[in-house]
Amino acid sequence: MTLTFTGQLGLDHMGTHVPHGFILPEGVGTLRLRFTHDPAHPGSGDIPHQLSISVYGPNGARGTRHNNADQSPAISTHHASPGYLPGKIEAGEWRVEIDVHRILPPGGVTYRIEVMWNVEELPAPETPQPQFGERKRGAGWYKGDLHGHTLHSDGRLTVEEYLNYSLERGFDFVALTDHNTTSALPELLSRAGEAITIIPGEELTTYNGHALVLGTPDWVDWTVRDGHTMGARAREIAEDGKVFVIAHPKSEGHPFCTGCRWAFADLLPGVARHVEVWNGPWTPCPKNPGGVALFYQWLNQGYRMVATCGTDTHRLAGEGQRFGFNVIRAEDNTLAALLDGLRTGESYITSGPLLAARASGSGQSVTFGDCLPEGEITATCVLDDSDLADDLTLSLTHCGTVIASASCASGMELTETLSTSSGDWITWEIRDRAGQLHMITNAIRFGGESAWR
Ligand SMILES: [Zn+2]
Ligand SMILES: [Zn+2]
Repeated sequence: MTLTFTGQLGLDHMGTHVPHGFILPEGVGTLRLRFTHDPAHPGSGDIPHQLSISVYGPNGARGTRHNNADQSPAISTHHASPGYLPGKIEAGEWRVEIDVHRILPPGGVTYRIEVMWNVEELPAPETPQPQFGERKRGAGWYKGDLHGHTLHSDGRLTVEEYLNYSLERGFDFVALTDHNTTSALPELLSRAGEAITIIPGEELTTYNGHALVLGTPDWVDWTVRDGHTMGARAREIAEDGKVFVIAHPKSEGHPFCTGCRWAFADLLPGVARHVEVWNGPWTPCPKNPGGVALFYQWLNQGYRMVATCGTDTHRLAGEGQRFGFNVIRAEDNTLAALLDGLRTGESYITSGPLLAARASGSGQSVTFGDCLPEGEITATCVLDDSDLADDLTLSLTHCGTVIASASCASGMELTETLSTSSGDWITWEIRDRAGQLHMITNAIRFGGESAWR
């Protein structure tokens, strides 16, 4: 059977979902859709329209492919196209929606959606063999990435390539955060075996900003409509023990990266406590320095903010790009323990240099993510014995202002005694001669937890 929907999209449709409903009978084995639009990619310069389709069955979401290149999915009981969720094709009301992320002037896009079904089922794919190797375990500091994509959304890497890329970089953990889908997770978990901890997740790729949900194997609704706010969703995610991260808040917006810049007025930061301050390769453009500045601004407003880093991998890295990774202290290299470390902010972000740092005062000694009573404190940071570029400077910041610095050297120590008030905080940074960031820690805060939101 085949059904066809056609229509027109103009500039007014941008930021909306355009639904088309249909009824499926009992006994369908495979549902296929084909979405095309004309003009396909008129763009302005190299920028195309950005239109995806999302599919919803009687029992909920069945996936989306956030990728202009392929919009012809098949969904069956044991197999589905990248981005979509296999499972029974239930009889009843289904819906295909066009997610209108970007329409470029002058608009006027004609589209066509063909919906086809038959009784045959697609063959189940073979279960992939897991990687050899055992990851490091026990209490310690663990390295990894909290943001990346496969070809289940707009990444170029297969699930296997994504996994191998993470292992080659020596990561103890890696998150999977495809745009608006979790469909790559079963394959990634099968392939990873015990070799690396997988943090299941999704990048909620909305029309007004992107957020990472970390720790969820299940699809999270990314749409903001019918009275649901992003703030309420962030609260539900946190209450459910998962981590909600505002991603690349100062990203360039429309038209180069439509929807990428954070614009949810109820989450500045509202209930959000995690913000991605280093996204992709470090560049002096506003995105990453702007993220760091926002993190510091929110700390200065009394929020217990935690900074994260994500390579936002879509393809293999180019030459000369400097990516960061997260170093998280966890009781074990497991999903639950890593989420605990991430939740409190016992972590730092680095492109290479490793370190240990503490603040001591009032008979206590704490590290990143923790709080000390105000008063006189001693802050100490010790760099690991490792190769360092020769133009790096380690600095201690007090409420965002550098108060002590020294040239980096393997094994060096930077110690400073300072007076702190309630609501103050410190971080450490490593920057090069040009002022570009190579490392930033999470904050140690002062004044007791009651002083903090
Ligand atoms: Zn994003
Ligand atoms: Zn991303």
